[in-house]
Amino acid sequence: MAEENLHDSPSPTALDLHACTHGDLLALMAELGQPAFRAKQIEDWVWNKGVSSPDEMTNLPKPLREALAARVAPLGASELARQVSEDGSRKYLLGFGDGASVECVGMPSPGKLAVCVSTQAGCAMGCAFCATGRYGLTRSLTAGEIYEQVMHVRNDFNARVTSVVFMGQGEPFANYDETLKALRKLNDPDALGIGARHLTVSTCGLIPQILKFANEPEQFTLAVSLHSTVQKTRNALMPGVKRYSLVHLYAALGEYVDKTGRRPSYEFALIGGVNDTEEEIDSLCDFCRGTLCHVNIIQLNEVSGSPFKPSTPEKAQQFIDRLSRVGVEATIRNSRGADIDAACGQLRQRMR
Ligand code: SAH
Ligand code: SF4
Repeated sequence: MAEENLHDSPSPTALDLHACTHGDLLALMAELGQPAFRAKQIEDWVWNKGVSSPDEMTNLPKPLREALAARVAPLGASELARQVSEDGSRKYLLGFGDGASVECVGMPSPGKLAVCVSTQAGCAMGCAFCATGRYGLTRSLTAGEIYEQVMHVRNDFNARVTSVVFMGQGEPFANYDETLKALRKLNDPDALGIGARHLTVSTCGLIPQILKFANEPEQFTLAVSLHSTVQKTRNALMPGVKRYSLVHLYAALGEYVDKTGRRPSYEFALIGGVNDTEEEIDSLCDFCRGTLCHVNIIQLNEVSGSPFKPSTPEKAQQFIDRLSRVGVEATIRNSRGADIDAACGQLRQRMR
């Protein structure tokens, strides 16, 4: 270790402790002349205690802390801004070393803390009703950066995180490998240990990845953003998934259910005059009838400058009633944090 490096900021090729396996850390300890048990101690700081730099790893000898500080990239994301909703939800804008920033949200309820994380800075899918989609993709996040959002919320609320939804910015399945790594780490009993069923990934419907997800051994939960089962409407609302037709999506979801035995949920945000018509209700009933699924009817959250408006509560109830008549469970989901633009589809990269 060069002496002059000790207090410099780590180089761009700095080691990402989040990306290190146990084996990598053992090799690093050997290289630094440290006993093997230090690897476990470091992992505990990274995955459980959520420190932002090796300086805070107080059970490590000072020379090791200094050696690590010179080598590793900063761990925590920095909080650039925050907003607190009337309902207790907190939205954070977190920044990473290269200037990319994302939002995440903590949603407390008695005895519970749900966290909504982003998987990409921005999103390339361009859904017409979504604030994130409007600005395109900046970059995908690493598993560590996804995990850090959960740690940030946990530390801020000083409470155990009971569930995580991958419903912030970005399309998780367009960043499949890092999303899976983050899910596994969140599930790991040596890390946050959140039950797989309480970890939900929402996709706009990337079929190859839905099929891949069906073959993962863990019981993670899948949510699919439908928003219309009329091909023409869906193409207009969700141009990024035009090439994955509803016929194929239907078949893929059937395969998912057959393989996993688990029930996917479908997100359907009602947009006045666009996807709340009789034709849309009929079509959605046909799509869901006789299949294992749960439909979440959401009122569209208005995005400034967008021509789309939410539908009415009567229409939402009509969807629920009609679906229930064909034996499909459906609920109206109320968005949290709407007053701070933290609700679905309102997350952007900058707070204004
Ligand atoms: N990219 C993934 C996950 C992030 S979006 C996906 O699309 O599923 C999370 C959820 O918010 C999705 O169901 C998305 O369709 C929904 N959403 C986006 N914009 C919205 C808006 N303006 N109002 C309500 N829901 C919206
Ligand atoms: Fe991307 Fe999801 Fe927004 Fe569509 S709804 S643009 S997939 S974040």
